[in-house]
Amino acid sequence: MERLEQRILQDGVVRPGQVLKVDSFLNHQMDIPFLCEIGQEFFRLFRDSGVTKIVTVEASGIGIACLTAQYFHVPVVFAKKSKTLNISGDVYSTEVMSYTHGRTYTVIISKSFLSAGDKVLLIDDFLANGCAMLGLIDLARQAGAEVVGAGIVIEKGFQRGGELIRQAGVRLESLAVIESMEDDGRITFRH
Ligand code: 5GP
Repeated sequence: MERLEQRILQDGVVRPGQVLKVDSFLNHQMDIPFLCEIGQEFFRLFRDSGVTKIVTVEASGIGIACLTAQYFHVPVVFAKKSKTLNISGDVYSTEVMSYTHGRTYTVIISKSFLSAGDKVLLIDDFLANGCAMLGLIDLARQAGAEVVGAGIVIEKGFQRGGELIRQAGVRLESLAVIESMEDDGRITFRH
């Protein structure tokens, strides 16, 4: 998505450890009209997939998932990071390694909100090593739901996530794919 690439070049800041900060429009301050354009693009890509639920993981995916859901007219379910060690039987749960925080979380979704027969579109802000997305795929499959696709705002194409999601048999649509990021701030895209 051309306008997204321009926005990343204009506002993105490359941090050590191959982390891209896009706090001015996506991850801290949110540019709602612009993020609605992103939501519309996900709708264009997945409108014929029969989506019944949009699923993301807290916290950074929630905003973009909501702005996307308004075009599909379906609910958003966000996987919660659980602090409880003894997970009760009324939730699906899986382990996710956080790229930005360098630790593992248990994430859960209540069995009330995801079930067989659901057609799930996964949405997240970034795809890096794929742990967050693979965790969501695991939760959806525990529920017997069908994952019709994964919509990512920014994929870091030099990390393994994209390959792993495709290997899992999930259609992946990333609106911008970064080919490389240099410490001096230079960013190139894959087309
Ligand atoms: P993964 O699970 O694919 O390794 O990482 C994806 C998650 O880590 C995303 O939900 C996102 O919140 C965070 N993340 C990974 N890489 C970056 C990055 O370069 N910038 C930002 N802002 N978040 C990232």
